[in-house]
Amino acid sequence: MKMGFVVDSDRCIGCHSCSMACKNYNQLNPKISWRKVYDIQEDAYGEATRTTMSLACNHCDIPSCKEACPTNAYEKREDGIVIHHEDRCIGCEMCIYACPYNIPQFDQETKKVSKCHFCYERLEEGKQPACISSCPTQAIYYVDVDSFGLQTDRSLPGFPDYRITEPTTRFIKPFIVKKI
Ligand code: SF4
Ligand code: SF4
Repeated sequence: MKMGFVVDSDRCIGCHSCSMACKNYNQLNPKISWRKVYDIQEDAYGEATRTTMSLACNHCDIPSCKEACPTNAYEKREDGIVIHHEDRCIGCEMCIYACPYNIPQFDQETKKVSKCHFCYERLEEGKQPACISSCPTQAIYYVDVDSFGLQTDRSLPGFPDYRITEPTTRFIKPFIVKKI
């Protein structure tokens, strides 16, 4: 099993409910966002269209955050989830520099880093991650990436080269692109 988020940009309406729910559930410092909603460049597909993508940690197969951390604060679990253990973090920010997706966030109050952990404790209770639960259009869900049959993409315009860290996130393009 390899957990991965599916980000459906065809369904995303850019309402930011996911990032707000994440912030609220995880009681984040207001300046910290584990999940962010990005605009995709309007002419990315050669035709004016407004669309967005919601991104959090990509729980990469080759997590450069983990490789860069001098205190072994990152763990790649057997189910694919990458967890950051805050109690081991010394706030050196090496993981921030190493992650191509700008994911780990430095908290000026705690002087430590934090990031999305896939709401693993909610999963253990049979619940969905907070971002997924809050999305009004079902634009985010998760799958077992190893056995997922639906056709998806590894990246969208603006997403860094996936070959660097092999993210488990999968994308569905906006409809206007599917018609081409
Ligand atoms: S909650 Fe859903 S629709 Fe709203 S921005 Fe996030 S992914 Fe998009
Ligand atoms: S997206 Fe960044 S922080 Fe998340 S696992 Fe990949 S390298 Fe680490």
